[in-house]
Amino acid sequence: MEYEDMLDRAYSALPEILKEESRFQIPVLEAVVQGRITVVSNFGDVSKGINRSTDILGKYFLGVMGTAGEYDASRLTLKGQFRLAQLQDKFEAFIESYVICPECKRPDTNIIHEKRMTFLKCEACGARHSVGTIKQKSAPMTEKPDLSIGDEITVQITRTGKKGDGMARHGKYLVFVNNSREGQTVKTKITGINKNMAFGDIVQTL
Ligand SMILES: [Zn+2]
Repeated sequence: MEYEDMLDRAYSALPEILKEESRFQIPVLEAVVQGRITVVSNFGDVSKGINRSTDILGKYFLGVMGTAGEYDASRLTLKGQFRLAQLQDKFEAFIESYVICPECKRPDTNIIHEKRMTFLKCEACGARHSVGTIKQKSAPMTEKPDLSIGDEITVQITRTGKKGDGMARHGKYLVFVNNSREGQTVKTKITGINKNMAFGDIVQTL
């Protein structure tokens, strides 16, 4: 009788348990802007909170924010100034696509890779859905890194300067390339920099 009581209890408790499991708490990011970078200080904790590696979440953020950055087991650093709400929105979009099972809406899922495809596999209901593969830095960088003398960059010459040099735009820089012509795409080696102007020689015409 005691045993049956226990069974009854177990069954009556079951829906509660399911409810409990589905009440998934979305972690809240903590982010601070420090000069020209934004640091997510609880990156490691939120990754654990959604049972995903910092690697996959880091790749996702760099791609989706379209910026350069780096991450380790605890922090995510993004180049640029981002509002917390922006980051949290993207984070929740990640959870929607890469954590929550589309069938049963539970978060007990794993990311698996098979035949160059990525799947979200649900441990609760067994459903399997293909999801987009997260590519690192798939989005173009919004801000070009600072140039240094000796750098080799590829630019498209879009104008001709007064002295006949080709001119190209590279991030914040206006680059003057010796002996280049409008319409050319050239690899140029930077020989001089003056504020937002850079000067270079052609290494290769592409
Ligand atoms: Zn499921």
